[in-house]
Amino acid sequence: MSALKPFYWRGKSLEELSKTEWEALCDGCGKCCTYKLEDTETGELYQTNVCCKLLDTHACQCADYKNRKKYVSDCVQLKPENVLSFDWLPPTCAYVRVAKGKDLPKWHYLVCGDRQRIHEVGKSVQDKVLSEENAGPLDQHIIARFK
Ligand code: SF4
Ligand code: SF4
Repeated sequence: MSALKPFYWRGKSLEELSKTEWEALCDGCGKCCTYKLEDTETGELYQTNVCCKLLDTHACQCADYKNRKKYVSDCVQLKPENVLSFDWLPPTCAYVRVAKGKDLPKWHYLVCGDRQRIHEVGKSVQDKVLSEENAGPLDQHIIARFK
């Protein structure tokens, strides 16, 4: 982390970030690892409180990020060119924000220096979701309209 310049994302596009800068940008919210349901008639998205089986629901980290495709073949890899095409990413997502030319929020660890801050201010899914392995039908777990 010491190799990163403070506020390195400011004034840069996602395409201009190095691999290290790209990886560091993730805030660790875990929101992209939760299931959303789409109403096929209206196109509206609904948030569930169910997450991918590989998500550590307290740490909000993928349990095996490097090998995740072995277990979750449809896990999406974010890239500069596809970030804005995913309407299921939360507006708080650091990649979405930088792609839109916005700054990171004050609770982001790259801004405040504290990786726990995001959990303290309730911007992550920490201890709020359950694994798909224990959840049953997703439509029984809708908690809100998404966005
Ligand atoms: S939503 Fe974005 S910032 Fe949050 S964990 Fe996923 S990729 Fe990282
Ligand atoms: S495989 Fe890992 S990164 Fe992909 S959705 Fe599941 S927990 Fe998230």
